[in-house]
Formats: sequence, C-alpha cells, structure tokens
Amino acid sequence: MAATAVAAAAEAPELSDEFVQRFQPIRFEPVPFAMEMPVRLPQDINGRHLPVLSKSAMEDIWCPLRFQQRRLLKKYGHSSVDLLAGNAGEAGIEAMLDANLLRGQRMSIADALDIVDDVWVKTLRTEYVDFRDERPSVARDQVKVCVRHYLKEVVPSIVGAGWRLVALQHGFNEYLAPHLRWSVNGVIDQVWHHPETGLYQFRDTKIRRSDMQAWRAHRDRQASLYVSAAHRAGLLLDAFYFDSYNRKIGTLKVLRTTRTARAITETWATVQSAVVQITTFNDRLGLHTPWPMTLDHEHWRCSQAYCSVWSACPRGQVA
Ligand code: SF4
Repeated sequence: MAATAVAAAAEAPELSDEFVQRFQPIRFEPVPFAMEMPVRLPQDINGRHLPVLSKSAMEDIWCPLRFQQRRLLKKYGHSSVDLLAGNAGEAGIEAMLDANLLRGQRMSIADALDIVDDVWVKTLRTEYVDFRDERPSVARDQVKVCVRHYLKEVVPSIVGAGWRLVALQHGFNEYLAPHLRWSVNGVIDQVWHHPETGLYQFRDTKIRRSDMQAWRAHRDRQASLYVSAAHRAGLLLDAFYFDSYNRKIGTLKVLRTTRTARAITETWATVQSAVVQITTFNDRLGLHTPWPMTLDHEHWRCSQAYCSVWSACPRGQVA
C-alpha cells in the first residue's frame, strides 16, 4: 500500500492559490423570502459575541435548547465513545494520508495505529468519556480494525481509480451577507482531485457504533454546506462521500451524495431561520431561562447517546 501511496504523491497536484482563495467569503444568494438577519450572534456567558458558527456549532444550531446550553452557557457535558472513536480513527487515517500522499514520506499502517492509541490514551487522561455498556479496550480495538481496513483497502482503491489527494482538513468560511459580523465555517476532511476529468470529491470518514443510513447522508446538513462551498468556489464536484464504518461489526458503507441547487438554497434558508430563532429566544428569554427544544427529533444527535445536554432536556426527563 505504501508503495502505491508514495507513487501517487509524486503526481498529486498542489492545491492552487486560486482554489484556496475561491473558498474565501462569498456572496450570499438571498432565499426567496424576506428575513431580517441578526448582525451579531448572541453573547455567551462570558459576554463574548460568538464570531462564527463552526462545524460543531452547526450541529447544535438546530436545537435552541442544546445551542443555549452548550454554546452560550458552555455546558458541554461529557464526550461520547463515538466522538472519541471518530477523533482517534480520523487522526490515524489523516496522519498516514498526510505523510504518504501529500508529503511523499513513508508511514506504515502500524504507525498510524499507534497514533490511534496515542489519541485514545491522551483523551482519556484529560476528559471523561461515557462508554455506557462498552469496554474501552474493545471499542479501541474496533476502531483500529476500521482504520486498518480503510488504509489498506479503501485508500488504494481511490488512488487506483485515478484520484489524487490534494488537501486534508480544508477549511472554508462563508458570510451570509457582507454586513454580518459572524460567519459559518467548516472543515472538509479530505479533498480529492481527478486530473483527467477535472472533478473533485470530498470525503468524510465516520467510525461509530452503527453505520450511517442513506437517507441521513442525503439530508446531512454539513454535507450540504460543503457542497455549497464547492459550488460557490466554482469547483466541478463529483460528489460528497461518507465512508461510514459500523465499528461493532467492522463493516463499511460508502454513501455517495450530491445536492441540487434548490437543496443548497434551502439549507442556507434553514441556517438563516435557525439564527433568527436563537437570537429571538436570547432577546426574549435571556440566557438563564431554558429555551424551547427542537422539533426535529429525527436528528441523529437527539438521543441520550449523542446529546450531552440530555439531562437538561424535557425529553431526557420523561424518558
Ligand atoms: S435531546 Fe434533542 S431536543 Fe433535547 S436538547 Fe438534545 S437535541 Fe435538543
């Protein structure tokens, strides 16, 4: 695998300045209804206006109560085992991709698995992780099985199909309107380019206790934002791929998803409306009265396993 990867590194194009610049702030196309946008996001408990809706804040914005508890009152709660699994797995995969496909070095899969172990151990030293009914050592070994499979089987198949890795953790920052004093930013895990067709593809690896359902991939809001960023940058995007592992049984599901222009517009409209909603709750109820919870109980985070403010939520109190 390493030989294939190093050979590919020599041919991989650099991410051009134009590509990077075109990911910078873009003009927002208005949604088809009038909505006054707040110029600033609410202040947190330390009196600081939030400057951006980050990748992770975007996961909270859909539930006002969760946003209030986590982003404004800074009650983040404990980490879940799947958050740890995802972070540790991603660290191992990206270290090897970075070394072998971007820097022309040689890193072995064994070294990548050592990085998984390092991240795992360091996280457990500094954070409380709720393993629920799982044994930590078993969960860690499941992650390593997935990482080994990804580096040994999946990456060579992508490279073999003519794709060249051009960026890892590629950030973008978008302003919905020029006068706003906040923006939306995000980070695309992997950006691949196909020199023959000129197409790009984005990939995101998920390692969780269960794999992602296809309908979730097609509705995932982060994917919508990232596809939107590609469209606005004028990239020819093949698709967004979720490489989704069920770590319990070690299976991989590759989910390919795209977005229509209308779906992208609707995503931005939803961001607008969510921001108006949290600003309104902040103005009317303040920081210390619990805000209403989400109506979207289909969101994957809306459960005891994935919502760290579950105990503060009426849903948690009646479950
Ligand atoms: S469980 Fe669902 S409704 Fe309750 S705070 Fe969390 S995301 Fe919101």
